[in-house]
Amino acid sequence: MIVILKDKPDTKQVDNLMQWLKSMGVQIHESKGESTTILGLVGDTTGIDISLIQALDIVEDVKRIQEPYKNANRKFHPADTVVEAGSVKIGGGNFQVIAGPCSVESAEQISGIALLVKKSGAGMLRGGAFKPRTSPYSFQGMRDEGIKLLLEAKNTSGLPIVTEIMDLSHLPLFEEVDMIQVGARNMQNFELLKELGRTQKPILLKRGLSSTLEELLMSVEYIMAGGNSQIVICERGIRTFETATRNTLDLSAIPLLKTMTHLPVVVDPSHATGISKLVKPMSMAAAAAGADGLIIEVHNDPSHALCDGPQSLTPEAFQELMDSLAPILPHAFRWQ
Ligand code: PEP
Ligand code: MN
Repeated sequence: MIVILKDKPDTKQVDNLMQWLKSMGVQIHESKGESTTILGLVGDTTGIDISLIQALDIVEDVKRIQEPYKNANRKFHPADTVVEAGSVKIGGGNFQVIAGPCSVESAEQISGIALLVKKSGAGMLRGGAFKPRTSPYSFQGMRDEGIKLLLEAKNTSGLPIVTEIMDLSHLPLFEEVDMIQVGARNMQNFELLKELGRTQKPILLKRGLSSTLEELLMSVEYIMAGGNSQIVICERGIRTFETATRNTLDLSAIPLLKTMTHLPVVVDPSHATGISKLVKPMSMAAAAAGADGLIIEVHNDPSHALCDGPQSLTPEAFQELMDSLAPILPHAFRWQ
């Protein structure tokens, strides 16, 4: 349920209303806009008599929210949420490109790529330390050592870092990581989401392989219910009958998510297509469709990469991609 207050309401009356609502057992999220304030009610609102609220002087309108995701809902919080990871902002007009290798392979590799992508305009560095591989016989990542090397690359380049968590027991290793990635395979690992909701770390939540947008937003809701609203949502392609690409990039998810939620939406054209040649055109399309950023795999030597070489860009191709975005961004679709 949302309660829309009249312009400049009497603060004493607002306090009284909030106290009364809290006594009914619901949580209240206050969203102050330029002229309107919205009170978003989360919890069981079935016992609340709408007509009693509607009758108050300070109330403009009261509406029940049908969607099961509440905190993530744009109706609760009409303004864009801006996520801050280290020195970098994503959302609310801040377009960011996160770039780096699929996995951390050595100190030279990760620090070298960090400096190159930074030079091309990337705002954050990615790199997997714990890798979710389909085969247990494939390279599983450098694990703890990989996180250490990422932190070194962060120091060398000044770029904030994002890396994937696969198990709750690893959380202490992520203390100095700027943004924690929850991969597609863990989108519905609800215990992991709940625990991340209790941290104040920015989270990059990737869409599950076969998840609907509503399921994706319900996973966001798990994190937000714990008190953490610093979440960036990532469209990374979904399973369809098509096998010519690794996944199918759901471009329509971008403007749709932007109307459904106030959180930033970024796109991963590397995992969505699996083909390096397709990464630039899909990045341009994602930017035009209103994405708040991109996450791109870049490798110094893609043909020898330990993971996802065929979809990785060389630093030169990454520079070309960045050049192609500049003319598009001023004309990108905006949800409102
Ligand atoms: C990744 O970003 O390295 C990754 C494994 O992505 P996803 O979870 O989208 O497959
Ligand atoms: Mn990868």
